Amino acid sequence: MYSTSGCTSGLLLESQRDRTAATVTGVPEAFLLSPPGSNHVSVIHEPPVKKYLYWCDQCNVPLIGRTCSCGANGREIELLQPYDVRPALSADMALIKNLVHEQFGNVPIPSVLLLNKTGGVDRADLVIAHGHRFGWLTFDPVTRKFSLDIAPEALPYILKHVTKGIVDLETGIDTPGGAGRMGGKKFRLKEARPDGTVIVKFRTRFGTGVVKDGQIRVKELMPVDLRTGKNPDWEQVVEQNRYHLKNLERSSVRMIKQHIHDRPKCNVSFSGGKDSTAVLTLARKAGVTEAFFLDTGIEFPETIAFVKSQGVPVIEKAGDFWQAVDKAGPPGKDNRWCCKLLKLRPLKLHLAEIGACVTVQGNRWYESWNRAGLEETSQNPANPLQLNISPIRNWRALEVFLYLWWQKAAMNPLYEQGIERIGCYVCPSMLESEYEILKVMHPDYARRWDAVLTEYAKKRGLPDAYAQWGLWRWKALPPKMRELCRDRGIPVRDDYTLQAEPPAGREETVEIAGEKTMEPAMEAQETGGYTVEAIRRDFPILGDIIYLDNAATSFSPEPVIAAQVEFEHRYRANVGRGVHRLTSIASQRYWHAHEKVAEFIGGKNGVTVFTKNTTESVNMVAQGMIWKSGDRVATTILEHHSNLLPWRNLSKRGVATDIIGITPDYSLDLAALERTITDSTRLVAVTQASNVLGVVTPIPEIAKVCHDHGVFLLVDGAQAVPHLPVDVEKLGCDFYCFSGHKMLGPTGTGVLWMKEPCIEPSVLGGGMVEAVTSDGCTLAQGYQRYEAGTPNIAGGIGLGAAVDYLQAIGMEKIHRYETDLTSRLITGLSKNPKVHVFAPQKPEHRIGVVSFTVDGFHPHEVAQQMDETADIMVRSGHHCCQPLVESLGIPDGTVRASLALYNTRQECDMLVATLEELTR
Ligand code: PMP
Repeated sequence: MYSTSGCTSGLLLESQRDRTAATVTGVPEAFLLSPPGSNHVSVIHEPPVKKYLYWCDQCNVPLIGRTCSCGANGREIELLQPYDVRPALSADMALIKNLVHEQFGNVPIPSVLLLNKTGGVDRADLVIAHGHRFGWLTFDPVTRKFSLDIAPEALPYILKHVTKGIVDLETGIDTPGGAGRMGGKKFRLKEARPDGTVIVKFRTRFGTGVVKDGQIRVKELMPVDLRTGKNPDWEQVVEQNRYHLKNLERSSVRMIKQHIHDRPKCNVSFSGGKDSTAVLTLARKAGVTEAFFLDTGIEFPETIAFVKSQGVPVIEKAGDFWQAVDKAGPPGKDNRWCCKLLKLRPLKLHLAEIGACVTVQGNRWYESWNRAGLEETSQNPANPLQLNISPIRNWRALEVFLYLWWQKAAMNPLYEQGIERIGCYVCPSMLESEYEILKVMHPDYARRWDAVLTEYAKKRGLPDAYAQWGLWRWKALPPKMRELCRDRGIPVRDDYTLQAEPPAGREETVEIAGEKTMEPAMEAQETGGYTVEAIRRDFPILGDIIYLDNAATSFSPEPVIAAQVEFEHRYRANVGRGVHRLTSIASQRYWHAHEKVAEFIGGKNGVTVFTKNTTESVNMVAQGMIWKSGDRVATTILEHHSNLLPWRNLSKRGVATDIIGITPDYSLDLAALERTITDSTRLVAVTQASNVLGVVTPIPEIAKVCHDHGVFLLVDGAQAVPHLPVDVEKLGCDFYCFSGHKMLGPTGTGVLWMKEPCIEPSVLGGGMVEAVTSDGCTLAQGYQRYEAGTPNIAGGIGLGAAVDYLQAIGMEKIHRYETDLTSRLITGLSKNPKVHVFAPQKPEHRIGVVSFTVDGFHPHEVAQQMDETADIMVRSGHHCCQPLVESLGIPDGTVRASLALYNTRQECDMLVATLEELTR
C-alpha cells in the first residue's frame, strides 16, 4: 500500500515515489546519470505551505493554529504531501464506517475524522482520528472497490470493540510463533483470507499485517494501551478554533479591501465549490457586490441550483462540449482543450463586456503544485483586463470548511455526497471514485459519457480499460498508471499513450465560439519519423504557450535540467582540483561534456572551450589575437552586435573594420567580400545564419576566399548550431562561436572552438596553468588554458546533455522538420497583404527565423498583442542588429518568429491566424 515514510520528507512528488520504487541494486544511486525507472528528475520548489496540523489532546479536536481556545497548546501532527487536510463529510463517514464494520465488527468511529489527500492511482486519503493516523482509504479503479488499511496507531482506540479481522499468530499461521522477532516477517496463513490489512496479535502484543495471496507480512508488534478519546462534534471544533478563524477572516478581508480599487470594477469568480463560497463570503464582507459563474454546459445540476441560490449570475455556456468531443476526442489532464473552449474563451468574452476588473478567486496553494507559487495578486496572462487576487491562497481545505461552518454559510450539497472537487461531471481531473458517485446520482449523464468513451475506444482498437479504469483521463499515462497497465498486461506505447495514431497530416478543428483552433490535431505530428508530440513532452515549460522566440533563447528538455540537478544533488565539486571522489566525477563529466560538444560540431581536432555565450567567445578572439596598427577586420551587415562591437572596439589599437553588404535576396555579397579583403585584412568575422533574416551564409566559399588570402575566419554559429548539422572542419573556419542556451542547453553557456589554440587567454588565474614560478607560469594545454577560475560546471554538463538530446533525434531530421515549418509559416504570412516578410526565397538558404512587419502596427505592439490574445511569444525590435534593420529601411525593426525542434505546424498556423485577426 502507500508508504508513509516516503511521502513526508522530500520535495519531489511523483518522480520521487517512482525512484524509490525502482532502485537498481548494485548501482549506487548517487552515480546514476538518470534515476532508474523514471525518465527524468523533476524538482518542485517547496511552496510556503504548512506541513503540520495541530491537535488539542484535551478537547480531542484538530487546530488550525498552535493553540486551542481551552488554552492548551496543540500537539504537532505531520501531514503528507500535498498537506491538504479536510473533514470527512457524511458520505466519507458512511464509507469509512462500513469498511471498518465489515473488517472488524461494530467498532465506534469518532465524529471528527480528517482526510489528508495523498498521491495514488485514484482516491488515496490518510484518515486521521484522535490526532493519530487511523488508516488509509483508497479506491482501486480496476476492481472499483474502496479499501481501508488500518494503521497501528488506531489500535488503542478500536481494539476493545474489535470482534473480527484479527489474526492470532500463535494459532493462525503455519510457522509456530514464539521464536524471535516477528515484525517485518512473512508467514503462510492456515486459513484463507481476503487480501488486505488485518490486525495481528501475538500473546500480549498487537500490530497490523498485510495479507496477500495466503501469506501475511507482519508489521511491528507492540503492547497496546487501550484508550478512549472524547467524541466532540464539528461544532465544537469550530468553537475551539474561533480565534484563528477570526484572524484568517480579518486578514483575507483586509487583503480584498486593499485591492478592491486596483481596477475600476471588482467581482468574484464563483465556481460553486467550497473555496469560492468562502471567497464569496469574504468578498461580500469586504464590500464586493459582483460575482459571476461560467456555465460550461456540463455542470452538475446541484451546482447550478446552488449557484442560483447564492444570487450569483450564471453566464450561459459558450461552447458545446458534446459537439467538440466528437471531433477532438476525450480531453485529458494533459490535454485540456475543454477548459479553453468552455472556460477561458467565455471568460475572455465576459471580461470584454465588463472591462478591466479585479477578480477575487478561491485558488489555494494546497490544491495542486501548479498553484503552490500563487502570489497575493496575479495578472491573468490570457486576460490583461483581469487582475486576480487570491485571499485564501494559504488556507487548507480544513480552514475553508471550518470557516463556512462558522459562518453558517450554505454549501454545495455535492460535498456531503462524496464529491471532493466540484467541477464539470466529465472533468478529466475528477477521480474515478467520484465517477462512481456520478453513476449513482445521475446515471443518464454517466451513460452518455460512457457511450462516448466506448465508441472512441472501439474506433481506435483501444482496450476496455481505456473507459473502464479511467485511462482516458490522460493522453500520455503518468508513471503510476503505466505501472498499473504493466501489471495487468495492458500494452502502453513508447510515448506512454494507449491511443492509436491518427493518419499523418490529419487536422481536426474544434469550434471555439465561432473561432477555429487546431489543438486536438497536435496529438501526433509525424514528419519523416519525427514525432514532435513525444519531443514536446520533454519540455514541460511549453504548457499552453506558443513559444516562438527561440533565436533569443531556447527551452531545455528534462534530461538537460536533470543533468544539472544531478550535479547539484549528487556530486557537486570543483573541477580539475583535488583527488577526492566527487571532484573526480565532476571533472570527468565536465571534460566529457567538452568532448561531446567537440564531436557534435566535428571539432575533435581543435580546442573546444566553454564560455558564457557567443558574445564572450567572439570577445575572447578579439582580445586574444595579437594586433598591429593598420590591421583590418572584415565583417558583414548581417551581424549581431556581438559580432560587430568587439571588432569596432579594436580601433583603439589601430585596427579598422570593413562591412560587407547583402544582395536583394538577403544573401551575403561574396563579390564584395573578395573586393574588401586586402593584404591588411587579418580576419573575417561572419555569421553562419542571420538572427533577423534567417539567411544562411556560404561559409565554405567564404573560407576558401579567406584561406586564399591567408586570413583567419571566425564564424558566429549562434543561430546555426541549434538548427543545422555543423561540421567545423568541412566549413573550414578557424574560430567557431556559439551559445549553449540557444541549443537547448542551460543559460550562461557558450562555446569557442578554435582550430589551433593560437590566441592569448584574456583571463588569467587558477585552473589555467601547469605551473607558477616566482616570475612566470606555464600555461595549461587544451581548453583549461582558456577557462581560468571555477567554470559553470553544472551548465557545462547540462550543455553536454543538450548535445546528447539533439544527437539522439538527429540534426538532419531536425533541420528537415524545421525547414518544413519555416516554409509553412512564410507561406501563411505572405498571404496576408498587410504583412511584409523579410526572408530569402529559397528554403535551402534559410533557417526558421522569420522576420516581418505589419502595416499600421509597431513591432512591439504586434508582439504584445500576440502574447495577450493568443499566448504567442515572439520578439520585436532590432534584434541587436541595428545597422542591418536600418539598412533595410525599417528602423523600428521587425516582429520575429523563430522556431525550434519542438514547435508545431499548428503553432505556425496559429500565428498566421492571429495576425489575420489583428489586421482585420
Ligand atoms: N550572434 C547571433 C547570430 C545571435 O543570434 C546572438 C543572440 N541573439 C548572439 C550572437 C549573441 O548571443 P549571446 O547573447 O548568447 O552571447
